Amino acid sequence: NDQIAIEYIDGVYNKLQQSHSHEPEFLQAVKEIIYSLKPVFAQRPEYMKMSLLERIVEPERVVKFRVAWQDDSGKVQVNRGFRVQYSSAIGPYKGGLRFHPSVNESIVKFLGFEQIFKNSLTGQPIGGAKGGSDFDPKGKSDSEIMRFCQAFMTELHKYIGPHEDVPAGDIGVGAREIGFLFGQYNRIKAAYQPGVITGKLPRFGGSLARKEATGYGTVYFVQEMLKEINESFEGQTVVVSGSGNVSTYAIEKAQQLGATVVACSDSNGFIYDPQGINLDTVKDIKEVRAARIKEYIDVHPHATYTENCNKIWTVKCDIALPCATQNEIDEQSAQLLITNGVKAIGEGANMPSTLEAINIYFKNNVLFAPAKAANAGGVAVSALEMAQNSMRLFWSFEEVDEKLQEIMINIYNNSREAAKEFGHENNLLIGANIAGFIKVADAMIAQGV
Ligand code: GLU
Repeated sequence: NDQIAIEYIDGVYNKLQQSHSHEPEFLQAVKEIIYSLKPVFAQRPEYMKMSLLERIVEPERVVKFRVAWQDDSGKVQVNRGFRVQYSSAIGPYKGGLRFHPSVNESIVKFLGFEQIFKNSLTGQPIGGAKGGSDFDPKGKSDSEIMRFCQAFMTELHKYIGPHEDVPAGDIGVGAREIGFLFGQYNRIKAAYQPGVITGKLPRFGGSLARKEATGYGTVYFVQEMLKEINESFEGQTVVVSGSGNVSTYAIEKAQQLGATVVACSDSNGFIYDPQGINLDTVKDIKEVRAARIKEYIDVHPHATYTENCNKIWTVKCDIALPCATQNEIDEQSAQLLITNGVKAIGEGANMPSTLEAINIYFKNNVLFAPAKAANAGGVAVSALEMAQNSMRLFWSFEEVDEKLQEIMINIYNNSREAAKEFGHENNLLIGANIAGFIKVADAMIAQGV
C-alpha cells in the first residue's frame, strides 16, 4: 500500500511541478505537505479514488486585480492585488493579507495552501485563503497607506463577506491597514459588518489578545513540546528573528516564562544583546516610530548590530524561534544552529525553514514545532474574534488568552496523536499535516463532488 500511495503522490506532484515550475514557493509548500500524507493514503485507498490530493492542491478560486492609487505627489501608482480562495470545505475562506514587494501568485498560493491545514488544526470552523499585494508600505505616508488600502478594498469587497471570505493581516498589514480596509468595506456596503475582517482594533469590534496571539501561541506550543524533555523556557537562551507582530509577542511571552532573548532582527540586520533584549525599546522603535532595529544600539550601546538579517542564526541559543519570513533558515543556518547546540526550533513565521533545513533538524533529533501548528494561534484568535462579532459581545483579555492556550495545547496533542497513529511518533510535522488534512478530506467527501 505504501508503494501505491507514493506512486499516487508522485503522480500528483510531478504533474503540478510541470505546470507550476515558475512558482517555487508554492511547489515547496505542496511538496512538504503531500509527501507527509503518505501513511494516510496507504491506509485509506478511498481517498485516492476521490482524487483528494488533485482537488486540494487546486485553489477553488484565484482573484487577481489591478490596484491604482494616487501617491502624495499626485502621481498615479499601479500595484497588483491577489486573493486565493483555497478551500471552503470546513468554513468560510480565512487568511491574512500580505503587503510586500515580494508578493506574487506563488507566494500567495503557498500561504493559502498552508492556511487550509493550519486553520483545520485550530479546531475552528474556518477554510483556507490568503491574499495581498506587491505594494511596499515601507516609507509611505499615512495618507498613501490609506488611499492604497481603499483602492485595494474597492476591488476586494466583491469577493469577501462575513460568510464568504474573512481576511486579516500578515506581513505589512497591521491594525492601521485593517482599520482603513474595514472602513472602506463598510462605506461601500452602507453597513457595519465587523465579521468581514479580523485583526481590528478592540475599540471597534476587534478581539483583545489578537495582537499577541501568534507570538504567544508559538511560545505556548513550544512550551508543550519542551515538557517532553522535562524542560521549560526558564533559564533558556532564545533567538527570535523578526521584530514585527509575531516576533514582538513571542519575545514578550518567552521573557515572561523566564527565558533570556538575546537577538532579534528586521530585514536589514540583527541586534545581539547578551543581557537580554529590552522589549520596550523594540516596541518603541517598531510599533511607535516604525524605524529600523539598528537604532536599538543607540539606546543600549552594549548591544551590537550586524547588517545581514540571516546571520542571526550564527548566535548561539537553546531555542530558535524564526518569526520573520519564508525560507529564512537554509541548510547552512540549520547546520549552524545544530553545531551551536540548539535544542528546539519553533516556527512563528510561515515556512521559515527550507526543506533541506527541516531534514537537518530531523537528522539531528532536535525538537521541531512546524509553522502550521506552532503559529496557528493568530488565526485561531481571529476565529474567536469572528465568534465575538457574531454574538455581539466582547471577552476579556484573560478569557481569550485562556482559550488560546487551550487551543495550542489541543493542536499539540492532536498532532502528536496523529503522528503516533500513523507510525511517525515524535514527528510533529507529519502529525500536524495529517491531523489538519483528515478533517478537511472527510468534509470534502461528505459534501460530494
Ligand atoms: N496571517 C496570519 C496567518 O498566517 C493570520 C491569518 C488570520 O488571522 O486570518 O495565519
